[in-house]
Amino acid sequence: NIEVVEDRPEDLVHRAPIVTVMGHVDHGKTSLLDYIRKANVIAGESGGITQHIGAYGVELENGQEITFLDTPGHEAFTAMRARGAQVTDIAIIVIAADDDIMPQTKEAISHAQAAGVPMIFAINKVDKPTANPEKIKERLAAMNLLVEDWGGKYQSHDISAKMGMGVKELLEKVLLEAEILDLKANPNKPAVGTVVEAQLDKGRGYVTTMLVQAGTLRVGDYVLAGKNHGKVKAMFDERGNMVKEAGPSTPISILGLDGAPTAGDKFNVFEDEREAKQIAAKRMQLLREQSVRTQKH
Ligand code: GDP
Repeated sequence: NIEVVEDRPEDLVHRAPIVTVMGHVDHGKTSLLDYIRKANVIAGESGGITQHIGAYGVELENGQEITFLDTPGHEAFTAMRARGAQVTDIAIIVIAADDDIMPQTKEAISHAQAAGVPMIFAINKVDKPTANPEKIKERLAAMNLLVEDWGGKYQSHDISAKMGMGVKELLEKVLLEAEILDLKANPNKPAVGTVVEAQLDKGRGYVTTMLVQAGTLRVGDYVLAGKNHGKVKAMFDERGNMVKEAGPSTPISILGLDGAPTAGDKFNVFEDEREAKQIAAKRMQLLREQSVRTQKH
């Protein structure tokens, strides 16, 4: 019973692309995400983001923004999809140039294809003497995935996540892809989005990292996220700075929920606190019944 209202065209504004990095273990997903998190901070800000958080935004020199889901591996991607959450706009598939198309590379590719998410190939570790990026492109071609240098439609870039080589150009290609997708959202309505991760913090209670996908989330809003609910007491960006509101494609950590929702749970803002509580109670009840049923089997 969540009201679906069509957005008026004049309310739609550009939003940052939401990007997931996938690929085979040890091919360099973490290194790439770490490099981007540390290197591409908002101009003038020093140090970058040191703490790990499930999603973060970066602003490039030209002022354009990209939001990264920092949940390496496609487990998170599939877990979210299994819950019906489609948050990713673009997938970066990292492939080590000194290796081959490995089983998890293939899985990542088929997950992106199944979700209809455009892929960009990051051919990594090109600093290594044993790297052979052309071999990787040839292997991709054999899978019917022709990269641009080979006359195909897929963007790819040779990078060294370790040295930071080619990463800037890779991100420019992400922005190019985003431009083609023409991503828009309406910030002028109550926020909706998806839970990225949640944990219990000793001092602060439940900290829930969420991605606002449309609308604007504000301190004081009443949120229903999966089986959990509560009034947003405080919001923090990925640098730990307090913020009062967050628009589309913004990752945000909130305080105030009565528990930890599951990654991939949708969240909504409710005007009516009582209604949110009732739905949360109903969902909790359903979960209990489900677990009783699975225990019996
Ligand atoms: P993940 O499992 O895909 O997240 O891979 P990691 O980012 O943990 O990288 C696995 C290993 O490869 C680590 O030892 C990294 O230091 C190394 N590595 C990652 N990227 C590069 C690169 O561009 N060049 C080189 N030489 N090593 C890299």
